[in-house]
Amino acid sequence: MEKLKKRILLSSPTTHGEELFYIKEAFEKNWLAPLGFNCDIFEEDISNYIGGSMPEKYYSLSLNSGTAALHLAIKLAGIKSGDIVLCSDMTFSATVNPISYEGGIQVFVDSERDTWNIDPSALEKAIAKYPQAKALVMVHLYGTPAKMDEILEICKNNNILLIEDSAEALSSSYKGRQCGSFGKYSIISFNGNKIITTSGGGMLITRDKNAREKAFFWATQARENTLWYQHEEIGYNYRMSNVLAGIGRGQMKYLSEHRNLKQKIYNNYKEGFIKENLPVTMNPYLNYTSPNHWLSCMLINKNCKKDPIEIVKKLNELNIESRPLWKPMHMQPVFSGCDNIYTEKIPVSEDVFSRGLCLPSDIKMTEEEQNYVIKAIKACF
Ligand SMILES: *Cc1c(COP(=O)(O)O)cnc(C)c1O
Repeated sequence: MEKLKKRILLSSPTTHGEELFYIKEAFEKNWLAPLGFNCDIFEEDISNYIGGSMPEKYYSLSLNSGTAALHLAIKLAGIKSGDIVLCSDMTFSATVNPISYEGGIQVFVDSERDTWNIDPSALEKAIAKYPQAKALVMVHLYGTPAKMDEILEICKNNNILLIEDSAEALSSSYKGRQCGSFGKYSIISFNGNKIITTSGGGMLITRDKNAREKAFFWATQARENTLWYQHEEIGYNYRMSNVLAGIGRGQMKYLSEHRNLKQKIYNNYKEGFIKENLPVTMNPYLNYTSPNHWLSCMLINKNCKKDPIEIVKKLNELNIESRPLWKPMHMQPVFSGCDNIYTEKIPVSEDVFSRGLCLPSDIKMTEEEQNYVIKAIKACF
């Protein structure tokens, strides 16, 4: 096959020009600093979007990254040195790093095969082994909602505080309820590769107004309410700039469009692979959930001894970007001292990682380009 002139990307920012309107407003009002009207309105937009169908009010705090939001969530959960925190094993490291920022100890919990997210039976096993665990940090991987009914039930029965990493899952829903609405504290990321972006940024979401206030306090250098600079706690500089929040406001208007395009890409791959009779399946989801399909992934059949790394390399030669799945946290040298709880003979996360691959999911990809990717994958088998 012929090498493409223009590279097909995994997931790059898609802008629409409307973002500039809000940026311009910030410039005209000479309001570029962190905090400001764009931040306020963007927060309101997200609170309404996430909590729209819920009876309770949701509060959001715009921050300079999803990781900062996770760090503040860990602080709000009261995690201190030596505390055990249960967390998703198969995820991006930013889900679990903030536990270490506060001196907590990660205990990784395996994935199930229906969504690749935290396995409720492994979660129960982990709680039986670590009854002192205070909190769970769970992810909706690649925008696919986790088994929330089961997870919420287990957390409730065992008094485990839930932190929901919805970094990849804005606009995904579970039984009609938005991802990001489940956690005591939830987070979203607006990093450049996510479904909408502010170039870099994140949001903390909670129904607890006081918690939002506390997080705001920490995120703005922990300044006490005095005329002079008074500090009684360690603070952080975590706020989102008013300029970048303007990008977010503009992007919010295109969230459903981005989502529809991502879904189309997923379904196109799915149909294409069936039509070509390839020994692969797409990343699975539950039929009562509605994923945003942030990244389309494929899983090579077990009996087919094909290394996904080989496919990544071959696609790259054709100028097509793809990448291995998130490497499970228990396989990361930096977490070699942490426990990992699973119920099958070998962890599901390890098995999925060894056979899986993230496919180009950039919404600027044309249909011809998508079909080219399918052909290129076919040529690998
Ligand atoms: C992107 C991402 C984050 C981190 O968000 P940043 O805004 O890049 O700090 C956290 N968790 C997951 C699962 C992510 O994909």
